Amino acid sequence: MDHQALLEQIARDVEPLLGTGTPAEYIPALAAVDPGRFGMAIAGLDGTVHGVGDWKRAFSTQSVTKVFALALALSLGGDSLWEHVGREPSGNPFNSLVQLEYENGVPRNPFINAGALVVTDRLQTLTGDASSELLEFLRQESGNPELSFDPEVAESESAHGDRNAALAHFMASYGHIANPVPALLDHYFWQCSIEMNCADLARAALFLARHGLRADGSRLLTRSEAKQINAVMLTCGTYDAAGEFAYRVGLPGKSGVGGGIVAVVPGRCTLGVWSPGLDRQGNSVAGVAALDRFTTLTGLSVF
Ligand code: GLN
Repeated sequence: MDHQALLEQIARDVEPLLGTGTPAEYIPALAAVDPGRFGMAIAGLDGTVHGVGDWKRAFSTQSVTKVFALALALSLGGDSLWEHVGREPSGNPFNSLVQLEYENGVPRNPFINAGALVVTDRLQTLTGDASSELLEFLRQESGNPELSFDPEVAESESAHGDRNAALAHFMASYGHIANPVPALLDHYFWQCSIEMNCADLARAALFLARHGLRADGSRLLTRSEAKQINAVMLTCGTYDAAGEFAYRVGLPGKSGVGGGIVAVVPGRCTLGVWSPGLDRQGNSVAGVAALDRFTTLTGLSVF
């Protein structure tokens, strides 16, 4: 299939949706982004990328980085991570506190904020510098040594971070957080502020399409671990809209409130898509629609 023609077709199909939805407003530095932007890239297993629209424009990756943090934490520390974080869909908003009290401070999954704080805490213990380690990993896998944090976004998140602070302190009270909460929050906000474009994102996720193999051919994850992460992306990667995402798109995917989504076609390719207008659950309106068009036009879903 001609990837370029396919992407151009998808861009035309989603054009009427551009400008619908709203950029995340609770992080002031993100609220200013133009909701009419759209970019999409597809990366083949060999790293070849095609793109359309704003695919070379960097955006705030936000929760998309949670999938990379999880992969690193599992690769470095193994399965004991699952003693402190579950892998069931939450059915609640990504920043919800409500289930924690009923479940002894164990968050439902690694892709809601509470779960990602546990993963980042674990990564901090394993590496001594969670956010820098993650950035270095993303630089290597994307092949883009320029990838960086956006200090303005990290600051903005920190200044409006009461909800994440509450989640972290609450879990710490149950013994699920090993590092001091203020330092953990800094690493979490830095991680959310990493900027990437659609091509970087698609390339960086290729280890999930290659059943665990990194860009240099070395193994990051076992085949089984790669399957497990893809499964958790499918069931939990788009928060309380994961059922709808599986229904429409049928691929493992992870979204972020910057409007980015990464999706994986195991054994075939990865997709990075960005459009900042969000729906009520915090997923990109045009991004989900574009992935829906991709699987509909190509038949390439996990189903
Ligand atoms: N930085 C955001 C937060 O902590 C990430 C949330 C998201 O992208 N869903 O709220």
